[in-house]
Amino acid sequence: MKKIQMVDLKNQYEKIQEEVDSAVLNVIRSTQYINGPEVQEFKKELEAYLDVKHVIPCANGTDALQIAMMALDLQPDDEVITANFTYVATAEVIALLKLKPVLVDVYPDTFDIDVEAIERAITPKTKAIVPVHLFGQAANMEAIMEVAKKHNLYVVEDTAQAIGCDYTFKDGSSQKVGTIGTIGCTSFFPSKNLGCYGDGGAIFTNDDELAIKLKQTANHGQSRQYIHDRVGVNSRLDSIQAAILRIKLRHLDDYSVARNRAADFYDNAFANHPKVKTPKRVAFSNHVFHQYTLQLIGVNRDEMRAYLSDKGVPAMIYYPIPLHLQEAYTDPRYSKGDFPITEKLCSSVMSLPMQTELDDEQLNFITRNVLDYLNN
Ligand SMILES: *Cc1c(COP(=O)(O)O)cnc(C)c1O
Repeated sequence: MKKIQMVDLKNQYEKIQEEVDSAVLNVIRSTQYINGPEVQEFKKELEAYLDVKHVIPCANGTDALQIAMMALDLQPDDEVITANFTYVATAEVIALLKLKPVLVDVYPDTFDIDVEAIERAITPKTKAIVPVHLFGQAANMEAIMEVAKKHNLYVVEDTAQAIGCDYTFKDGSSQKVGTIGTIGCTSFFPSKNLGCYGDGGAIFTNDDELAIKLKQTANHGQSRQYIHDRVGVNSRLDSIQAAILRIKLRHLDDYSVARNRAADFYDNAFANHPKVKTPKRVAFSNHVFHQYTLQLIGVNRDEMRAYLSDKGVPAMIYYPIPLHLQEAYTDPRYSKGDFPITEKLCSSVMSLPMQTELDDEQLNFITRNVLDYLNN
């Protein structure tokens, strides 16, 4: 059996090696390392894949979120509502820009932002909502967009874990996540569902005017060469990374199928087990399984993780500490106990290996060892 890894980038690469190697070599030989034709082609191909008017490539997912907030011209002390149960980057850029992160709890079964909690958190200072499509399944965008419309708020979707995921509206129409709100942001970090071989990110919007601001913001606030209309940042996607992403984008839907196959395997193995809750699937979204995350019930998580690790089964905790209990994000408004769902999830979740290269032998081995531990 091949060694089991949380993410197996090597075996994935080997399947597209020839194509990737020659694309990378072509960029090197072209010397068009920054903003070369590969970046322009990738931008167009991603626009077509997502069915969105504008894709603005940038250096990473955190930059994408920051550029989005900057382009919206949010002012210090404006409040931005986001989920407490997420990767730190979401709240980090809000704080960095001296905006006020307002944290809300999530749903206990889907891990996604609680829409009623969003409504309760809205004040006259609220300017934007940042839903996170956590672990690869969409937040309830239709309900979020209704709240946003009612209160005249921007919606910035954090799509770093869910690129390719489809959201289905009540009328039966569907749209890729990241293209529903005012702006969508994603990351091409190697372990993400569409990962490059270094850092990368992108911003999406259907708003022509906003697209200009986003593009300028990512490029030193420049409107024409040496003319700077706004304060910006320097955030670019490398041509080499774009060349790799063009190839991997063509496989993204197949990667999703492989991830779902692993998830179905896990679901079947753990169905109705009293000590674990498998991730809930919702009707309004498919799942692209960035992570497969169990909730443990009455289990010593550290001990279980050590047991699995001994057997050669890696497992990770996404995320162990809620944002409001992180030193950097302590806030007199929040104390321990204020976000009961997030706090409970942080102490009970465990993510199993989830990637495109898991075979049946490995999946059998993982589930057998998890069940051995739970049943003893
Ligand atoms: C990975 C991630 C980011 C940040 O992306 P980087 O490319 O690492 O900067 C932001 N939000 C979420 C939810 C993520 O998972």
